Amino acid sequence: MNILLVYAHPEPRSLNGALRDFTIQRLEAAGHVVQVSDLYAMNWKAAIDADDSLRQRAGERFDPALDSLHAFENGLQSPDIAREQDKLRWADAVILQFPLWWFSMPAILKGWVERVYAYGFAYGVGEHSEAHWGDRYGEGTLAGKRAMLMVTAGGWESHYSPRGINGPMEDILFPIHHGILYYPGFDVLPPFVVYRTHRIDEASFPATRDALGERLDNLFGTTPIPFRRQNAGDYEIPALTLRSDIAPGQSGFGAHLA
Ligand code: FAD
Repeated sequence: MNILLVYAHPEPRSLNGALRDFTIQRLEAAGHVVQVSDLYAMNWKAAIDADDSLRQRAGERFDPALDSLHAFENGLQSPDIAREQDKLRWADAVILQFPLWWFSMPAILKGWVERVYAYGFAYGVGEHSEAHWGDRYGEGTLAGKRAMLMVTAGGWESHYSPRGINGPMEDILFPIHHGILYYPGFDVLPPFVVYRTHRIDEASFPATRDALGERLDNLFGTTPIPFRRQNAGDYEIPALTLRSDIAPGQSGFGAHLA
């Protein structure tokens, strides 16, 4: 299978660097073909701006969404954006690997999402009407592909437990899982999270590496997170709220799990 690893850490000799090298080796040994987008090494431009379109501009106002659509539809995207979209089309599975920084992904990776997820590619796909609010949340350009987060966190696992001070990890990752991966169609796998990273050393690293190895071996067998599909009847359209008989009394992120 084809696997794209999008990697966001500035230091190759880091824990993340070691886990990335192991991941590539493990996947290739299993017969997969791996491409890596090493965002710092690529000097990835994180900020969306008017230069993302090759269109000649005559002083018009820059519209981040509409300019993105125009560039996407007319083959005028900046080549770095088009290359990453090609990698996403090519991949059967995508892994986003990053250290948890301020309860989210590093800015360079957020900038990869913002620029590569063009209007027409990742959003604004399919019929948009009062009856069908686009192909998204389980449908879309990336449907049929799998995605998984590989995250390292300085905090302890208990800090991210259901009653932990930081909030549950599945809630912290929900905007990425549901909003960034499920939205354009990915089947989203449970994340691989390494906690309490500063305690990792030569003695404990093999256990982390082996746990990751198991997850990689089962990349195509693991059951995805059962997010509800937008267009399968659970939501009232066009309000896009859960029907009153679905998960009655529940609200918040957990209500969107079937
Ligand atoms: P490194 O610092 O490179 O390594 C961690 C440990 O692993 C070190 O002890 C190192 O010696 C060891 N190690 C590295 N490679 C190997 C190897 N090959 N074999 C054996 N041992 C090895 N944490 C949170 O929980 N929540 C946050 O919101 C958060 N925000 C942050 C914001 C910023 C800006 C920063 C800088 C950190 C933040 N952190 C947060 C902590 C952060 O998540 C961790 O520092 C990070 O995940 C560690 O990953 P690393 O690859 O940088 O590890």
